[in-house]
Amino acid sequence: MAKKGWEGAVLKLYRAKDYTFTVLDAEPVTDHFQRVRVSGGGLLAHHELHPTMWVRLWFDHPEGKAHQRAFTLVDADVAADEFTLEFAIHDGVASRWALAAQPGDTIEASLQGSALTLPSPAPSAYVIAGDIASLPAINSLLDAIGDVDAHVYLEWVHESDRTLPVRSRSRDRVTWVARERSGEALVEAVTKAPGEIGVDASSLYGWAACDAVSTRAITKVFKETYGLPKGSIKTLGYWQP
Ligand SMILES: Cc1cc2nc3c(=O)[nH]c(=O)nc-3n(C[C@H](O)[C@H](O)[C@H](O)COP(=O)(O)OP(=O)(O)OC[C@H]3O[C@@H](n4cnc5c(N)ncnc54)[C@H](O)[C@@H]3O)c2cc1C
Repeated sequence: MAKKGWEGAVLKLYRAKDYTFTVLDAEPVTDHFQRVRVSGGGLLAHHELHPTMWVRLWFDHPEGKAHQRAFTLVDADVAADEFTLEFAIHDGVASRWALAAQPGDTIEASLQGSALTLPSPAPSAYVIAGDIASLPAINSLLDAIGDVDAHVYLEWVHESDRTLPVRSRSRDRVTWVARERSGEALVEAVTKAPGEIGVDASSLYGWAACDAVSTRAITKVFKETYGLPKGSIKTLGYWQP
């Protein structure tokens, strides 16, 4: 395993917990989405699950230093200490690892920084924006939010993206938005959402995770156009365009 460098040292300072995951199974879901089932090396015995929970995986890089990339836990079986990691496939170290993963392969992981507390009292509805990299997190959120409507805006690139399973309930509305103008189409869809939903924008909860530039723009929309306070917004850039 390559050295984790200064990122590893900083995580140590923050008391990150390290684990070794072992691949149990790997399967394609579409031509651009790969599922890898792993056992957690004790992760689920030591940490309580929360919606959108994510870990930092350490990938070997040809230049020697390990690269960390974040991935979300899906379909966890706490008793068995097993869960699935789902990979949106593009050209990158994580994607290459996921496509080549075989039962018995191992990968190092650190847990630090993952947290989500659902709002209480509940909002009038959730506006959730993301893409297929954040679909695992969005699905875990939809499983957790209970009796509140969710209006989900999902950016797609490949035709097959729109066939991916979204765990929406009958009360939810899912809108697929083609990635256009480097993500601006998604930002526009989120901007128009309160008018389409027909509620006071300031009573909503805004959650967004997509490319870092679009995520910043959506955060601004939540703050300035919706008028949401900090406590009603959770956004995180998931990848650098
Ligand atoms: C908290 C958190 C949770 C995450 N959970 C997941 C998850 O469950 N599943 C998942 O697939 N991703 C998830 N991501 C995003 C993932 O960490 C990034 O996409 C990461 O960059 C992938 O690493 P890579 O080695 O494949 O590509 P990199 O080496 O980082 O990038 C290689 C090239 O691919 C481009 N690229 C990177 N990611 C994407 C993308 N998603 N779409 C299009 N182009 C891209 C980059 O711009 C670059 O040009 C999460 C991110 C965060 C912050």
